[in-house]
Amino acid sequence: MSDSIKDSTLVNHPPEAPVPEGNRPLVPPIYQSVKFEFDDLEHTLEFLRGDRPGYFYTRASNPTTRQLELLCAQMQGRDDCLVTGSGVAAISHTLLALTKQGDHVLCFVETYNPTRYLIRRLLGRFGVTCTMLSIEDLAGIGRVLSSTATRLVVFESPTNPMTKIADIEAITRLAHEHGALTVLDNTFAGLHQHGEFPIDIFVHSLTKYASGTGDVMGGAVIARTDIIRAMRNEFSTLGGMLDPHAAWLVLRGLKTYYVRYRAQSARAMAVARMLAGHAQVVKVHYPGLESHPQHALARKQMRDFGTVVTLDLGSAEAASWFADRLKLFAITASLGATESLVVPPQMMSGRDLSAEQSRISGITDSTVRLSIGLEELDDLLADLRQALDAAAVAGAPAPAGQE
Ligand SMILES: *Cc1c(COP(=O)(O)O)cnc(C)c1O
Repeated sequence: MSDSIKDSTLVNHPPEAPVPEGNRPLVPPIYQSVKFEFDDLEHTLEFLRGDRPGYFYTRASNPTTRQLELLCAQMQGRDDCLVTGSGVAAISHTLLALTKQGDHVLCFVETYNPTRYLIRRLLGRFGVTCTMLSIEDLAGIGRVLSSTATRLVVFESPTNPMTKIADIEAITRLAHEHGALTVLDNTFAGLHQHGEFPIDIFVHSLTKYASGTGDVMGGAVIARTDIIRAMRNEFSTLGGMLDPHAAWLVLRGLKTYYVRYRAQSARAMAVARMLAGHAQVVKVHYPGLESHPQHALARKQMRDFGTVVTLDLGSAEAASWFADRLKLFAITASLGATESLVVPPQMMSGRDLSAEQSRISGITDSTVRLSIGLEELDDLLADLRQALDAAAVAGAPAPAGQE
């Protein structure tokens, strides 16, 4: 630019320092830019007509978020992906994009709470109806699909927090026989599992295993090119885009995804075995345990069983004491990061369920969910044992004559 331009103007047009051709950074840069320009108006108009590749406005697309989309699609074994500002944004956009007034959606008592809310309350306001069954009720699923034209079957496997395993092959077969699309929230199983099943749309919370460090939120919708292409136009006007800096953090997290998922799953397996053999524990729910009612199905569908271990301590008092006495486990929501977490029964909300639906969900007032992190196994086991000892005192029946 000309020498006569003032410094206060030039700071807005800094000199470029391009990386020469044939030379590249090993870690891709963050394209922390909302806007992209072309050389001239003609090229800009060509882009806007769809006749020239490129980027223009980050709400629609950005090279860093695009890189994350391509990686997620590859990991899940699909053609394309759309990344979103949170896992729930991925779910809400999928539901809004794929339904219209008069459609019917099949969901489950075991479905993630916010997803249940979105389907029943939000879609309900727009004239979409739904049926809620148990994920274990294959006969019921067949009956509903053959009697009611259904647009979407929305489900999870393993389920939260009881780690029930959905029979993905049977559910996709029934759905496809009756012209319904399947949406699998694959957050618990992760980006590397279930890709071999004919699921139409995977949704994920990238907040969990993908980032792995609990410091960034994100979500992904992963599907065939035609489904994602149809969703993308509307998505840019709904505006739930993932910021490029967040996308970059998730890309960084994914470098250690397999190592973390497998190491944490191995710890979870050992924790589940210890708990299953402990006198103070009434029941343990973990798909990797031979005693899990769907262990054979889990083995068929999964290579790694995940990091959520749920247990029943027999009484609400024992469950509260146990959660409170744990030192290495933080009492908070979420899962899949490197630190261990505990969710006591009072924090599991199923307020929208009837008494019968609550019974089917399997959650009781003494259910505790653990999410296993990357701490040393011995430290985790010791912490769990001392908290179980404390719970034993709390859970013991009061001596005769005392309240
Ligand atoms: C956490 C979670 C979500 C929501 O993800 P956010 O990133 O918190 O919005 C959706 N589904 C499942 C199964 C989850 O565990």
